[in-house]
Amino acid sequence: MDIRIFQKGFNFSQDGPGNRLVYHLQGCNLRCPWCSNPEGLSFHGGTVYPIEEIVDEIRRSSLMFFDGGGITLTGGEASMQFDAIKELLRIVHDEGIHTCIETNGTHPDLPELFPYLDLIIMDVKHYDCERHKSVTGVSCENTFHNIISAIAAREDIALRIPLIGGFNSSREDAEHFAALFQELGVPGHATLELLCYHEYGKSKYDSLSLPYTMDDKAFISSQTLKSFREILSASGLTLVTT
Ligand code: SF4
Repeated sequence: MDIRIFQKGFNFSQDGPGNRLVYHLQGCNLRCPWCSNPEGLSFHGGTVYPIEEIVDEIRRSSLMFFDGGGITLTGGEASMQFDAIKELLRIVHDEGIHTCIETNGTHPDLPELFPYLDLIIMDVKHYDCERHKSVTGVSCENTFHNIISAIAAREDIALRIPLIGGFNSSREDAEHFAALFQELGVPGHATLELLCYHEYGKSKYDSLSLPYTMDDKAFISSQTLKSFREILSASGLTLVTT
């Protein structure tokens, strides 16, 4: 089995604990207009590796996984190469290597990966699935189901909201997110991180001849962030900053 990757390398503590070998898998089913990795959206491109080659690389790197490190699969959307990552995770998890996935949570079979994952980092971009679909192209119902499944399976789960002005960052949005997380049983069972919009990926759009449609209204003020944090904390959620 093969795995298609557009970037790989070590990163400390941003994509899970400790020093991690992070694999960016090619291809995503969503089209978030703020995406900072547009080179990873297409299901073509990148480099194709046999799984055995990646497993070898991970084994050779094991001394580098200090401070609780390991591997992280991200993207693109790593779950789009479902069978390949299931096999990869099974092998390295069985060898005691810490495994993490960063995912948009929309793959319906995501719980099949849970036995091979030590940490699940999942984006929750909106509480309203229609709005989610109108902006990203895909509904978020599966994400909600997968959060419920992860909590039921007592998985270590870290939720993230990418805060985007004009999309999901008003006071009313914060109250809706708080209500959603209560309904899903999140308080006490998952952490939550707020990631403010940035335009780090902007220059890549030009080089790929893709339009960048975000504007300055997407930036989040410190007051908006503070108020968002207060509303979510007050509803019993554990907010973290990595
Ligand atoms: S889910 Fe992530 S990788 Fe996919 S388009 Fe959205 S931000 Fe980009």
